[in-house]
Amino acid sequence: MFSQSGLLSARGCVICIVLSIGTTPRLLISHLVNFYIMNINFKYSFVNEVTEYKYLITHSQEYKQLRSVVWNPLYILLLLLFRKLYLSRAESAWKPIEPEVERAFKMLRLELPKDNLVCYVHSISCEGWYDPNKNCVHARITKCKNLGEFAGSVIHELLHLATYKNELDYNQREKIVDDYVARQPLSTIVRKIGDNPQDLS
Ligand SMILES: [Zn+2]
Repeated sequence: MFSQSGLLSARGCVICIVLSIGTTPRLLISHLVNFYIMNINFKYSFVNEVTEYKYLITHSQEYKQLRSVVWNPLYILLLLLFRKLYLSRAESAWKPIEPEVERAFKMLRLELPKDNLVCYVHSISCEGWYDPNKNCVHARITKCKNLGEFAGSVIHELLHLATYKNELDYNQREKIVDDYVARQPLSTIVRKIGDNPQDLS
């Protein structure tokens, strides 16, 4: 016999099954047994691109110390024209490693926002950034040495979201993320995809 709350969750499952038709079996299973599943949704937003460019040129000093920054606004046009191609590149770089990254986060007890995790794909600015208020990450896909570098940026920014504490400063937050990247199994994943976060050249 269902308790009142049991009945509610049983109804919830039926609704989830209906909503899940057309999604992958992995997502369907996650709805049924109600466990967290990493499913990053890559998006392009021209408004976000322009907003970031405005920030980049008005806060240029903050970017001078970073290892890789794209300043040229012509890349905004490039991504606008070829956004579908770049979005499919982003997915092809990320989706094969997503289950591994999900398992790594679980092993390291890192929690991410549960719903609709979005990664905005960019053409300009630094390699990546994150927004703890909107629970989204941003990663630059142009001028990467390889797509592994892009996927590595997504991992880096997801770590920021999972470990964000308002009271920490920039250097403390970066150190926490770097320490996680150096730990197993994330270090193996990052090496495998060809990203090299220690390469400051
Ligand atoms: Zn960082």
